[in-house]
Amino acid sequence: MNLSLKKIISILNTQEIGTPDDLTIDNISIDSRSLQNNDKTLFFALVGNNNDAHIYIKDLMLKGVRNFVVTHIPEGLEGKANFLVVKNTLEALQQVAAYYRSLFAFPIIGVTGSNGKTIVKEWLNFLLSPDYNIIRSPKSYNSQVGVPLSVLAINEQHNLGIFEAGISTVSEMDKLEKIIQPTIGILTNIGSAHDEGFESTEEKIKEKMLLFQHSKVVIFQKNELVDKCLESFSGYIPPSGAREIFSWSFTDNSATVFVSKKEHTHENIHIEYTYKGNVSDLKIPFVDDASVENVISCLSVLLYLEYDEKTIQNRIELLYPMEMRLKVKKGINNCSLIDDSYSSDFQSLKIALDFLESQKQHQKKTVVLSDIFQSGLSNEVLYSKVAELIVSNDINRVIGIGDTISILKTKLPNAVFFKDTNEFLVQLEQLNFENETILIKGARSFQFEEIVSALTEKTHETVLEINLNAISHNYNFFKSKLKPTTKMMAMVKAFGYGSGGFEIAKLLEHHKLDYLGVAFADEGISLKTAGIKLPIMVLNPENTSFSAIIQHQLEPEIYSLKGLNAFLKIAEQKKLKDFPIHIKMDTGMHRLGFEANTIDDLIATLKGNQTVKVKSILSHLATSDDLQHKDFVYYQINLFEKLSSKLMTELAINPIRHILNTSGISNFPEAQYDMVRLGIGLYGVSNDSEEQKYLENVGTLKSVISQIRTIQSGESVGYGRRFMANRESRIATIPIGYADGISRHWGNGIGFVTIKNKKAPVLGSVCMDMLMVDVTEIDCKEGDSVVIFGESPTVSYMAEQLKTIPYEILTSISQRVKRVFYRE
Ligand SMILES: *Cc1c(COP(=O)(O)O)cnc(C)c1O
Repeated sequence: MNLSLKKIISILNTQEIGTPDDLTIDNISIDSRSLQNNDKTLFFALVGNNNDAHIYIKDLMLKGVRNFVVTHIPEGLEGKANFLVVKNTLEALQQVAAYYRSLFAFPIIGVTGSNGKTIVKEWLNFLLSPDYNIIRSPKSYNSQVGVPLSVLAINEQHNLGIFEAGISTVSEMDKLEKIIQPTIGILTNIGSAHDEGFESTEEKIKEKMLLFQHSKVVIFQKNELVDKCLESFSGYIPPSGAREIFSWSFTDNSATVFVSKKEHTHENIHIEYTYKGNVSDLKIPFVDDASVENVISCLSVLLYLEYDEKTIQNRIELLYPMEMRLKVKKGINNCSLIDDSYSSDFQSLKIALDFLESQKQHQKKTVVLSDIFQSGLSNEVLYSKVAELIVSNDINRVIGIGDTISILKTKLPNAVFFKDTNEFLVQLEQLNFENETILIKGARSFQFEEIVSALTEKTHETVLEINLNAISHNYNFFKSKLKPTTKMMAMVKAFGYGSGGFEIAKLLEHHKLDYLGVAFADEGISLKTAGIKLPIMVLNPENTSFSAIIQHQLEPEIYSLKGLNAFLKIAEQKKLKDFPIHIKMDTGMHRLGFEANTIDDLIATLKGNQTVKVKSILSHLATSDDLQHKDFVYYQINLFEKLSSKLMTELAINPIRHILNTSGISNFPEAQYDMVRLGIGLYGVSNDSEEQKYLENVGTLKSVISQIRTIQSGESVGYGRRFMANRESRIATIPIGYADGISRHWGNGIGFVTIKNKKAPVLGSVCMDMLMVDVTEIDCKEGDSVVIFGESPTVSYMAEQLKTIPYEILTSISQRVKRVFYRE
């Protein structure tokens, strides 16, 4: 993208406050962490529900960014950079994108629907890329923010665009339409996903169709409801004539493409389709309904673009399932891998490098990269840009694989090159991968999945997938319930409630969280050693750990005179001054803390002491989740108020006070004091079923089917023959058991797992390393994926059935289960 700052100012109809000379902007950014931000970047300070990017402006200026779109100029920064002041920074971003889009006249495909948008977009990209230079939305960038960013990546070499648009409520599509301005519209499957934001399915369809108000053609699966919506849909008729309706159907032979299914094998479906009076055959390399529908959407586009039967067959046969997310996996020799082995184009490289930068497990960053396709640029220009990106992202080593990428040799003297993936794999040992984060990014044809598999740490196939976006969402949700001045401590004890301490701490550090809380010193030490800079409070510091606490600059919670004296002794030996400590009061939990009758001694000990400084005073509620015990909560709060006030007056100090945990934030917001301590809510669990609806699921525990067998009526399954079949049954064995943290009782008619979106009941008792489920009604095979918990069953449901609490389920998942972190 290239736009002059002057032009942008006129589009936004605003004034520039700063140096007046004209500049060309070639990078639009909303991500403060991106290392691609430079003096030609225009940074839009977006303001979300509770995250406001204005806080990053100062840091960005230190990194050389000069141009900002803001709602106000942060204090003290006037005159120090160029500020374009607007009412709404998101709308400004959308306006610039819409203007920029209108500069290009090539066809643009706009995809919307409830399901299948991203896969249809990716498949179309694959099918059409031999003939076009395509610009498409990266990953699933389909939101009010993602769409403008996608569109702003168009350049003069492109001659086809494919963008997806996702909405969750009315009035959103209109905005996206103005930015995408599609000439070809595709409506994919309309399901019940995200129905909450709409009054009815009809309203949802109508809203989605607004994407097509100026398109020449609309492609969709014909059905009554869509037809009805289309009738009442009075969009603009393009000057070239009436809008074309391009429908397809399995049942209605009046559709533009009429499809009938023929043969069905384990891996393929043969269909026959009639188009313009011709009957053709097509072999689809998938069997599930959703994939078949998505392939037919793609087929319709190819037919509309007048591809011949043979080319269509040849290309569709090569379609493959795709992973839409960047996944972080644990690699060999303590490496971390970012698996992006599905695409290689310039735009997605930029995104992958930003993602790599946000993952700070290791100092050292490595990129394994294949030839880059579809840029429309000459190789010389393309690889110069790639080299620039690599340099600005501080990549320590680059490994290029392919023919054309070796051009980088002259630009990056330290890079290593291989002719093909095999040659690389032969040399793998000598490359000594160790303690580094490796981005593996390659076009499909290079089969980089073999590199990923060679570099992945070998463990069993059960993984706990952690959705980092959901953590951010939940964090912001609770933050939005607080006064703007209230600080937040996130509890990451017990390995982040089982979800991974470091990764979550890192993410929250980015969100400018105030404090972390851990249970024991060693948890804090490993966070600090891994590079976490946030202050960390240790809830339960043992006397033997005081030295280590001081050495690693952790902050102990002090809960008794004995502990205080022991800490003071060491602190004085080390000649510390104002070392931060936290004073815990027992107001009724009766677990840890100073009781009312010890306050005078506490005051006497601390008075005049210079070695330590009371950073905060806290207490913990015993019943914040149970409104039946409201009175007890008020009793605790009153006592806390009394004791902490006394301490503050007598010692003449002004510490942070805090008493609320997750359910306290929800139920007793008036007691938020200066800080709250968020735990379980961050991980997506609430005690309140109403509130639960606003939280996103964080962890999904997954495994695979090891084996399937059929048993006869009267045969049994597992130890003690506790399950007896009363019909012929298909039984699947899953390699996860109570040693992984799944309760032994999650069987015998109580528990289930989810396979292909269907419930499979757990049979008999759970074994140590395995469990067996009934898949008689489910069309599945060995190797298929199994969800143990996540969206269904939820951790809360499991806890209820097992007569425990979600905390125990989450923290029981054994460390032998690999954690995989991802962002959408
Ligand atoms: C664990 C813990 C919290 C967080 O509790 P949640 O119910 O998970 O929000 C807060 N404070 C203390 C002292 C804790 O031990």
